[in-house]
Amino acid sequence: MKITFLGTGTSQGTPMIGCNCKICKSTDERDKRLRSSVLIETHDKKILIDAGPDFRQQMLRANITNLDAILITHAHFDHTGGLDDVRALNYIKQKAVDIYVETRVQRALRRIFYYAFDTVKYPGVPEFEFHKINENSFNIANIKITPVRAYHHRLPVLGFKIDNFCYITDANRISPKELKKMQYADTVVINALRREKHLSHFCLSDALAIIDKLKPKHAYLTHISHQLDLHSVLEKELPANVSAAFDGLSIYC
Ligand SMILES: [Zn+2]
Ligand SMILES: [Zn+2]
Ligand SMILES: [Zn+2]
Repeated sequence: MKITFLGTGTSQGTPMIGCNCKICKSTDERDKRLRSSVLIETHDKKILIDAGPDFRQQMLRANITNLDAILITHAHFDHTGGLDDVRALNYIKQKAVDIYVETRVQRALRRIFYYAFDTVKYPGVPEFEFHKINENSFNIANIKITPVRAYHHRLPVLGFKIDNFCYITDANRISPKELKKMQYADTVVINALRREKHLSHFCLSDALAIIDKLKPKHAYLTHISHQLDLHSVLEKELPANVSAAFDGLSIYC
């Protein structure tokens, strides 16, 4: 499996509009973070996790011309705001895009993209084919996907384990039972917003504590804000089996 980080930033992205901090002003490309999203490629399938407001730019930048499915972790706009742009895929394939969501996320998307569900639709609205998921494993073709329940303050969100890869974003709590599902993942991606504690996201020390518990071969941090640090600083301080992800990074697992 090939995993490509299309975005590794928090909801405001980095640089943040109007900010003059050293991270927002950094000229290191690895400090420029679009909203978090990853592409998973098997020999014949392309699965995207989350489609935030940078979706169009991310698809163009990575030269992705086709998706077999989109998995959504939760309804927040930085993870769903780009879904209108699946219109291009609808047009190319002449079919709706398969989107895997929990019931509460589907309800939110029906509100955000209300015009896609009008009885009499304006021509050219996005076409979504929703597939209802919960905490149970499901398959896309022959790929087994195991959702992992996590909490984003009080909001239930889903992470996904696919083969030996596990992706968790926008969480600040995972129960021991759900953590067990991640135990045998060789590669773990987990959110780390900043150094200071946060109400709804793991901070750096929280993420490192979970990684230390799970002991994957390698872990990557994502959903990073401009308050964490320069990539060049993080790279030197993180444990040997942990890296800060950056936009455009591809890994194989
Ligand atoms: Zn987010
Ligand atoms: Zn800044
Ligand atoms: Zn969120």
